[in-house]
Amino acid sequence: MPVHSEQLQYRTRGAGSVIDLTPRVSQVVRESGATSGIATVFVPGATAAVTAMEHEQGNVSDLRELLDRLIPPDGTYEHNRLNHDTNAHAHIRAALLGPSETFPIEAGRLLLGTWQQIVLVDFDDRPRERTVIVNVVS
Ligand code: ZN
Repeated sequence: MPVHSEQLQYRTRGAGSVIDLTPRVSQVVRESGATSGIATVFVPGATAAVTAMEHEQGNVSDLRELLDRLIPPDGTYEHNRLNHDTNAHAHIRAALLGPSETFPIEAGRLLLGTWQQIVLVDFDDRPRERTVIVNVVS
């Protein structure tokens, strides 16, 4: 079961910024030569997440607004109190969305919906450099 692995670098603004990973993940799938299999997309780090959504300004605003209501940045959190930190909301948001997703590959292509993109969401309260690990298993 061959695994083709690539690491992609991104610079984010933090604060719930959403970055479309689809073009580069698709490129990794093409370069892997896999005709069928799966691609896993994973972000190391406790304040970022990988998910799939329509990457469109309205959706991005709505997701941010929902998370601001559910998990407000200025809430009272034990993580911030115990560690003199400020990003507990980012840790909790990242845990909810999760750090990785798996996508099927057929005929050498990701089987994504027409309006479905693979996105990185960075919840930290400052700009970050992020590495995204793509593993193509075929
Ligand atoms: Zn923290």
